Amino acid sequence: MRYGAFEAVRGIDLHVERGEVFAFLGPNGAGKTTTVEILEGYRKRSDGVVSVLGQDPGHADRTWRSRIGVVLQESKPERDLTVTECLRLYAGYYPKPRGIRETLELVGLAEKAGAMASKLSGGQRRRLDVALALIGDPELLFLDEPTTGFDPSARRAAWEMVAGLRDLGVTVFLTTHFMDEAERLADRVMVIAAGKIVAEGTPGTLGGRDRTATLISFSQPAGTSFDDLPALVREAAVPEGAGVDRLLLKSVSPLEVLGPLVHWAEGRHLDLPDLEVRRPSLEDVYLALTAPVEDGAADAGATSSSQSGPASGGEQRAEALR
Ligand code: ATP
Repeated sequence: MRYGAFEAVRGIDLHVERGEVFAFLGPNGAGKTTTVEILEGYRKRSDGVVSVLGQDPGHADRTWRSRIGVVLQESKPERDLTVTECLRLYAGYYPKPRGIRETLELVGLAEKAGAMASKLSGGQRRRLDVALALIGDPELLFLDEPTTGFDPSARRAAWEMVAGLRDLGVTVFLTTHFMDEAERLADRVMVIAAGKIVAEGTPGTLGGRDRTATLISFSQPAGTSFDDLPALVREAAVPEGAGVDRLLLKSVSPLEVLGPLVHWAEGRHLDLPDLEVRRPSLEDVYLALTAPVEDGAADAGATSSSQSGPASGGEQRAEALR
């Protein structure tokens, strides 16, 4: 996709399976909206081949449009209509709409069925947006940042809703800036940065996450010194920061370190109350994949991690986490 001389999206190759929840991630300006709007048939691409539900969205007809649902980042409430009336209005555009009651229950808005749409809270309004996208009983749903502005419990409810859609067999194309959301919901994630795909995989394997070292940290128990610690721990531990009593270890086989450490503490009746064991989060991996894009690293031959060949700039950066 070119805007004048500027190539916003370049040579990306993506394939979404029917029935999967696919998360499309990337920093601001990466090219997500551009790509999604091309897939939705709202933006005319400059080049390339696109097929969505077997048709080119650039030449799609009304029947094709009735098979997809779209939830945009922002929407305007319908004036002077209740929630039910909004849904009834939209249902009229589709050949085989879903039931209004069922749709409201699916998005957790049943108790607001008679409320004016213009009087809904931000989170409820977002649920109505989703309901309006689902009323046509789509096979494919585009969800653009569905939980922005939600409180934590509303986000959980929205996640349950998306999980429910997956159970119904709806394919979900999700864009989000929340890594916990992608982790919780997505079968597969793809990261785009500066118009190119920098990584693709399941949330657990993106950027080689499954092969990264586990981080173990704990505070040196009072009354003990570094030299008291088991040799295996001493060899691998470094202070977590300057002037702190906390030690940090990285290990690809954490039990080899944790075993002697726990044994050592138990033998001395010591507790390790702030012992932490964690794998790099999806956010850690995402930040490593996308952060240095500004310095041009993403232009150095970024490829999908599923393809063979030289590692992309993003993959090399993710490697640094290991
Ligand atoms: P965000 O997370 O901020 O929504 P995004 O990944 O969706 O970002 P896009 O909106 O696809 O990013 O924009 C990709 C690039 O294309 C940006 O550099 C943007 O400035 C540029 N761009 C988008 N639309 C146009 C347009 N109509 N004309 C010119 N440039 C555009």
